[in-house]
Amino acid sequence: MADRPTLTTAEGCPIFDQENSLTAGPRGPLLMQDVQLLEQMQHFNRERIPERVVHAKGSGAFGTFTVTGDITKYCKAKIFEKVGKKTDMLARFSTVAGERGAADAERDVRGFALKFYTEEGNWDMVGNNTPVFFVRDPLKFAQFIHTQKRDPKTNLRDNDMQWDFWSLCPESLHQVTILFSDRGRPATYRNMNGYGSHTYSMINAAGERFWVKFHFKTKQGIKTMTDEEAAAAIGVDRETHQRDLYESIERGDYPAWTLKIQVMTPEQADAFERETGWNPFDLTKVWPHADFPLIEVGEFELNRNPENYHAEIEQASFSPSSFVPGIGPSPDKMLQARLMSYADAHRYRVGTNYQQLPVNKPRCPVMHYQRDGQMATAEDYKHMTANYWPNSRDGNPAPKPEYRDPAWDLGQVIVDRHDSKANHDDFTQAGNLWRLFDDGQKQRTAAAIAGALGDARKEVQLRQLCHFFRADEEYGKMVAEKLGINVEEALADLNVAGHA
Ligand code: NDP
Repeated sequence: MADRPTLTTAEGCPIFDQENSLTAGPRGPLLMQDVQLLEQMQHFNRERIPERVVHAKGSGAFGTFTVTGDITKYCKAKIFEKVGKKTDMLARFSTVAGERGAADAERDVRGFALKFYTEEGNWDMVGNNTPVFFVRDPLKFAQFIHTQKRDPKTNLRDNDMQWDFWSLCPESLHQVTILFSDRGRPATYRNMNGYGSHTYSMINAAGERFWVKFHFKTKQGIKTMTDEEAAAAIGVDRETHQRDLYESIERGDYPAWTLKIQVMTPEQADAFERETGWNPFDLTKVWPHADFPLIEVGEFELNRNPENYHAEIEQASFSPSSFVPGIGPSPDKMLQARLMSYADAHRYRVGTNYQQLPVNKPRCPVMHYQRDGQMATAEDYKHMTANYWPNSRDGNPAPKPEYRDPAWDLGQVIVDRHDSKANHDDFTQAGNLWRLFDDGQKQRTAAAIAGALGDARKEVQLRQLCHFFRADEEYGKMVAEKLGINVEEALADLNVAGHA
């Protein structure tokens, strides 16, 4: 056998035997002084970190982002500085609801999280494979996720729970329609689009602010799995999407996506809301392509698998709050809540200094006055001679006025728990999507919905059916038919014919 490096303990002490523990005799007992055994067993107990509450099952890879279109009139971020510029990046794709052992081919929304290691800090784009979400108010987020998890008593996933919630929250209908359409089961992670979903802001060098939405279009084409194909796949392999991503990169078949943006000026945003009644910051809505056409920005290619899954993917920590100069938030309530909750989750599950791990570490200097906490390496700021600001000691970092963002004009501010249900059109865009489907996709979507909704109580089925009718009469009729519900009788019973 070729000469191998020496096995050591975690402290670096050479080891001579990795198969026989230290005992008082052939029968045992063990000796406390077998520190090698103690170290291994104690570390083993600590191998897992808490799995993510959502998006627990994921796959990731590293790659390169390249600018192909000039958007400097909208954005001063260094990453978009000039056509041809390249930036290292990381992507993690995931399912939402299942635990770490869940099957990849389940019907679920997919996470689409990107980290760009720019020279002015990490920019994270923590999106999904859908352009909208189930709720528009973050007070509903944890409640919604509970409906995707297990019933507290039976410990089973529960379709009644999920449809009960959705039927009581009609703003979910748009996302529900996507989830049960063909795109609810991407064939691979390579064959799906990504969307920033929220509205963000871009700021240009002149200090002008624009509202933007991000779209990442797969260059591999959209491919999906039917329910039957997925059931067959899961029966033999729970890791279909992990395997596909890993193997395609290993064989040099690098997946790629095109980044496009939609842009609104603040004035256009006001006009859009006046004319359509749709809040441009409502996460349950898209901006129509015809009114806000896609503008090409660049493309990214994934070309390197992680060396170690745990270190580089399980510990990868993406936060919508990781902005860089030129990119910022919007008033979207869901985004605002995520700005807090993601970084908070990483501090809990990875550790206070999660940004110091190699996968999360910015590639630019990091200089600040945060100190200590578990696992601090402080590599970048170890030579600083002050741990407070303001200070007059030479060589310590100072804030720079050129990074000031333009002020936000919020108009009239009325602090209240503004009703997130009143005056909202929850049905038109879901109906628009339905009307785009060909007959095959309509049939499959209605069948998939009926398959899951059929498990819910009758009262829930009928409540939800009204929402399908409100979106499109054909949509309601087709689902009702697949549920075996007589629409006329049901509507008469519910006295909701006026809504249909
Ligand atoms: P368009 O006809 O310009 O856009 C329709 C878009 O629908 C397509 O571009 C495609 O998005 C997307 N699509 C097709 N099949 C599915 C599916 N099964 N699940 C999800 N999306 C699908 O019209 P509009 O821009 O006016 O939008 C009409 C409807 O299309 C919207 O109400 C929305 O439901 C849906 N949609 C719109 C998007 C947008 O940003 N405007 C983005 C995605 C969906 P893509 O090109 O991204 O693959």
